[in-house]
Amino acid sequence: MLLLSFYGFGSRTEMRRIDFTNTMVASSETARDINRGVLLNLIRRRQPISRADLARVSGLQRSTVSLITEQLIREKWVVYGAMGRLPRGRRPTFLRLNDRRAIVVADLRPGQSTVAVADVNGHFLSQEAMPTPTDPKTTLEQLLARMRHQMKLHSDRVFEGVGISFSGRFDLTSKHVVFAPNLKWSEFDLKGPIEKATGMWVDIENAANACVLAEVWFGHIEKVRDLVVVTIAEGLGTGIFSNGQLVRGLNGMAGEFGHVSLDPDGPACACGQRGCWEVFASNRAALRYYHESNASSKGPTFQDLMVLAEGGDPLALKALEKMAHAIGRGMRMIVAGLAPEEIVVAAELTRMWDRFGPIIEAEMVSGVLGGRAPRLRPAIAEPSMARLRGTVALVLQKHFGPSIRGMQTSTAPKRAVVRAQ
Ligand SMILES: [Zn+2]
Repeated sequence: MLLLSFYGFGSRTEMRRIDFTNTMVASSETARDINRGVLLNLIRRRQPISRADLARVSGLQRSTVSLITEQLIREKWVVYGAMGRLPRGRRPTFLRLNDRRAIVVADLRPGQSTVAVADVNGHFLSQEAMPTPTDPKTTLEQLLARMRHQMKLHSDRVFEGVGISFSGRFDLTSKHVVFAPNLKWSEFDLKGPIEKATGMWVDIENAANACVLAEVWFGHIEKVRDLVVVTIAEGLGTGIFSNGQLVRGLNGMAGEFGHVSLDPDGPACACGQRGCWEVFASNRAALRYYHESNASSKGPTFQDLMVLAEGGDPLALKALEKMAHAIGRGMRMIVAGLAPEEIVVAAELTRMWDRFGPIIEAEMVSGVLGGRAPRLRPAIAEPSMARLRGTVALVLQKHFGPSIRGMQTSTAPKRAVVRAQ
């Protein structure tokens, strides 16, 4: 029963069909690994937590909980926290994640990138920005220099791995960047050289997929199984979480709704086509709308445009409204194709959600063919933080067991965890 609930297959009110054709027989080792993941995730979400509460919440026997938590303490994933207080009897010892373990993360995007260090709870210890060079080789060199600097600042931590999110798609099979039109990169190996230089495992993910991870890992949406995150900045990307799994598709290319051409006579797109959803709905599109309505403007940045709009500038507001209409219209593709429960928008535009959210929603809802419309909301964190937090989850999820199905990378962690037999 525990196993079924954990995978989301069963609940008191609904029993889903299990696909036995793709199910392996559970060995005792598999069961132990699953229980380990269950407990590690419970500690992560509910820390500080006592062993008694872990047993109660998980449904596992006290002896099993004790065995696994001792193992997690030996592996230094979990440490003793504060002592609890009870009216009488023994004072329980609370467990929490060991925040001496850290991850070095980077968010690569056109113009400016960020390199940071976070602990296993997703708390950022430090970060620095760097201009993003246009050629991949220079980007690699500068990225490595910043990573070394960040790690040096926290030499007392144990580094678990490297997580990178970027404006493009990464193929887990070839381990190459395969599509990054806004960074203007052609196919190349971003992973190998960083692993060689740092001696650590490197996980790379598309920025929108990283935002999905941030929502699922750090948000409180355990019950949502169908979610799409739309990330809007220089470009427009989507990350798909369908039936409880991240959808990566062939070559990791799933989710490129932003490069579906909606008007073959429309403006040229960085991908080589014309009239993609992205050229009508990205930050760059809003700047173009503003420029078209105000010939004397010197071309503000998107940040300037937001400040103008927040100050009530009618031309800035009009440009952003046009962008909001285009975002909502494009979402009809997502609604028709995937019918998610929720669509989450990760964009700077969400700072004015009260104004632009209803425009996006009205356009999206008008394309609903039947049933209930998806819920629409802004992301839990501002876009750059969502991408960075997603990379923390990207590195950690392989250690925390199968808590997010489909998000396991195709490869084993370099830092092997010795499991007690
Ligand atoms: Zn395009």
